[in-house]
Amino acid sequence: MRAVVTGGAGFIGSHFCGRLLEAGYGDVVCVDNFVTGSPENVAHLMRHEGFRLVGCDVTHGLEVEGPVDAVLHFASPASPVDYLRHPLATLRVGAEGTRHALELAAAHGARFVLASTSETYGDPQVHPQPESYWGNVNPVGPRSCYDEAKRYAEALTMAYRRSRGADTGIVRIFNTFGPRMRPGDGRVVPTLIRQALEGAPMTVTGDGSQTRSLCFVDDLVDGVLRMLSASIGGPVNLGNPHEVTMLELAHWIRRLTGSRSEIVMVPLPTDDPKRRRPDISLARRELGWEPWTSVEDGLLRTIEWFADRRERVSSLTDVPAPASHRSGLAVS
Ligand code: NAD
Repeated sequence: MRAVVTGGAGFIGSHFCGRLLEAGYGDVVCVDNFVTGSPENVAHLMRHEGFRLVGCDVTHGLEVEGPVDAVLHFASPASPVDYLRHPLATLRVGAEGTRHALELAAAHGARFVLASTSETYGDPQVHPQPESYWGNVNPVGPRSCYDEAKRYAEALTMAYRRSRGADTGIVRIFNTFGPRMRPGDGRVVPTLIRQALEGAPMTVTGDGSQTRSLCFVDDLVDGVLRMLSASIGGPVNLGNPHEVTMLELAHWIRRLTGSRSEIVMVPLPTDDPKRRRPDISLARRELGWEPWTSVEDGLLRTIEWFADRRERVSSLTDVPAPASHRSGLAVS
């Protein structure tokens, strides 16, 4: 079996590439332009002879020679900091990138899975959110470049399924966290962990009463793998229904890290959703999936990963710089 994973050098994509190899996929082609991902995320997979990393922007095209059995489309900036920095590239990868990935799958008769998002529900007025809810998205707000790109990507995927008979599936991913998130990517879990480990003020937006439901990455990846093996089109929600307020989360992370950071409130970003919780009845019924990692276990594993990296980074920076660098002299 041979799979093509766009955005495979990102946070979720890199975990997914590893899981595919474990699941017996002989060939995994990871395609990424590294706008928010990094080859470092898949460095441990390079020793697998079936793993290939290709630097490519999927908005320009996606051609892969040889057989392709599965196409997983993860490519897209995903954190608000990233997509607000790259709004046009985010719209392009949701539109043209998705079309190229769908064309590749259709040309090879491969199963296609789109990584969509709970952001398609916007600031939801129905709680928890079932797949049948059409959402409450501000189409012209700052977040619309991401939300509408994903909604368009879903519409395009359904059009390929209905009009071209393509074998497609859509998963709507709710907040996912775990090792390999970038400490500065602006998402709530890495931000709070980084601040707690540094002893810096831990920033909570608004009054901290807004909620998210946090899923550990291993569980999420298992759900996507099940969607890949299924034949249903979806969309199917994948997420952990355990809902937590942002203030509770900050206290939780402070306790688990043993940090003495103070918790400070900062303004709420525009159009920030107030509540988020997936209804996962469909995933349970159709995929036999539900998350099995407790949020606390997931947080501990993520904190351990961040702490280990911090130690390695600070032990590297502790190495005295060469004398010429310290004195600011030019090195010939
Ligand atoms: P990420 O930013 O770590 O990964 C995205 C990857 O896509 C990066 O490696 C990036 O370099 C790559 N990419 C972006 N544009 C590209 C392009 N034009 N061509 C090739 N590669 C490109 O984000 P993530 O959290 O791993 O998210 C992966 C996918 O899952 C995204 O599609 C995101 O929308 C979706 N998702 C994630 C979450 C979450 O909580 N992490 C929630 C909902 C949906």
